[in-house]
Amino acid sequence: MDRQLLSKILAQMRKNLKDGKSIGDMKVGALLALGHQLEAIFYYLGHELGTTLKVKQVKDINQIPNELKDIISQFNLGEVEITEATQEVIQLKMKDHSSIKDLVKKGIKATGSFCSFEAGLLAGIVEKLSDQHCFAQEVGCSLQTGQNFCEFMVVLTQKD
Ligand SMILES: [Zn+2]
Repeated sequence: MDRQLLSKILAQMRKNLKDGKSIGDMKVGALLALGHQLEAIFYYLGHELGTTLKVKQVKDINQIPNELKDIISQFNLGEVEITEATQEVIQLKMKDHSSIKDLVKKGIKATGSFCSFEAGLLAGIVEKLSDQHCFAQEVGCSLQTGQNFCEFMVVLTQKD
């Protein structure tokens, strides 16, 4: 799934709807951006779950990385290490999460972003913490890289 493309198309759709213009062709573009449907469904599921974890909005945006770590350990979502955090992007490594837990060290390989459930989950949680629109993407899956962690990137965008 190309989340960046999808959010651009969605923003354009929103604008067109507001201006009273048609969104017909954009639905096709959004579908293409969704790509593999299963991945999109897992992302959606994770995102829904993330937004139901009763996460409180932080007062200071700089608290997000620490709060995120707390929530991940509180709900036993995996082991996390935040590798980079700015006000726009949070990059992190995660291991022992549900999507790969039973698959690692079994010689199973996957291509692309396998852990879209976790990506959606992270986006949902950070969305609640920040009260901003977020999307997340797995940038390196352990099933592909052979590392003992998966890498994720969460992007925060201002609400408009
Ligand atoms: Zn992964």
